[in-house]
Amino acid sequence: MAVPKSKITRSRRNNRRSHDALVAGNPAECPNCGELKRPHHVCGACGHYADREVVALADEVDLDEEDAA
Ligand SMILES: [Zn+2]
Repeated sequence: MAVPKSKITRSRRNNRRSHDALVAGNPAECPNCGELKRPHHVCGACGHYADREVVALADEVDLDEEDAA
C-alpha cells in the first residue's frame, strides 16, 4: 500500500533500506587461464567454457580472410 513520503520516518525508511545493500558476486577461477570469471559463463579473458574454446578473441580473428561469401 502506498504511503505518503512525509509519513515515513527516517528511522523506518533507513531500517527498510538496511537490507538493500548489494552483495559481491561469486567469482570462479577459469580452468584454462586462471582468470576469475562468473560461474556458468564463458571466460571473458580467453573465451573458454568447460575446457574448450567457444569464443574466438578479437585479436585472433583475421578480418582480411576471403572465405566469407
Ligand atoms: Zn579463461
